[in-house]
Amino acid sequence: MRTINYILTTAVALLAVAGLVDAQTMAGNGAIKKISKSDTEWRKTLTAKQYDVLRKAGTEEAYTGAFWNNHEKGDYFCAGCGLKLFTSATKFDSNTGWPSFYAPVAKNVIETHRDQTFGMDRTEVVCARCGGHLGHVFDDGPEPTGLRYCMNSVALKFAKVGAHK
Ligand SMILES: [Zn+2]
Repeated sequence: MRTINYILTTAVALLAVAGLVDAQTMAGNGAIKKISKSDTEWRKTLTAKQYDVLRKAGTEEAYTGAFWNNHEKGDYFCAGCGLKLFTSATKFDSNTGWPSFYAPVAKNVIETHRDQTFGMDRTEVVCARCGGHLGHVFDDGPEPTGLRYCMNSVALKFAKVGAHK
C-alpha cells in the first residue's frame, strides 16, 4: 500500500508541476516578469485580510467584499502587485457573492494550479507576477469562454475607467 501511495503522490505532484510549466509556456504575449517578496515584506505591505487571501489562499465570505456587486466600468488590478488582471467588460453577475469574470485581460496575467484542499478538486487562480492567490476558476461560466473566474474582492483593486494613470 505504501508503494502505491507513493506512486500516486508522485503522479499528482508531477501533474501539478506539469500544470505550472504548461501555464507558463502557453502564456503568450510575453512572459510576465515575476516578483518575489519575503513573508515579512508581504505582511508589511498588505492588510491582514489581503495577506490572508493573497498569501494564505484564504477566502472572503460571500457578499462581504467590495466588488461582487460593482457595476462600474473600469479595471481590476492585483492587490498584491498592481498587475492589471480583469476589466468590467468580462465581469458578470454570478449570484455567488464574489466578483466573477469570464476571462482575464490576457492569458499570461494569471496562472492556474490544481487545488485539492478541503476535499474538493478545484483550479486555483494566482497572479502571474506575484503569485498571490486570487480565487478559483470553474467551467460553469457564460459564453464566450464558459469559464467563471471566481475572485476575492480583497485580492483586487479597482480603478474606474479614466481614473488611473
Ligand atoms: Zn500580483
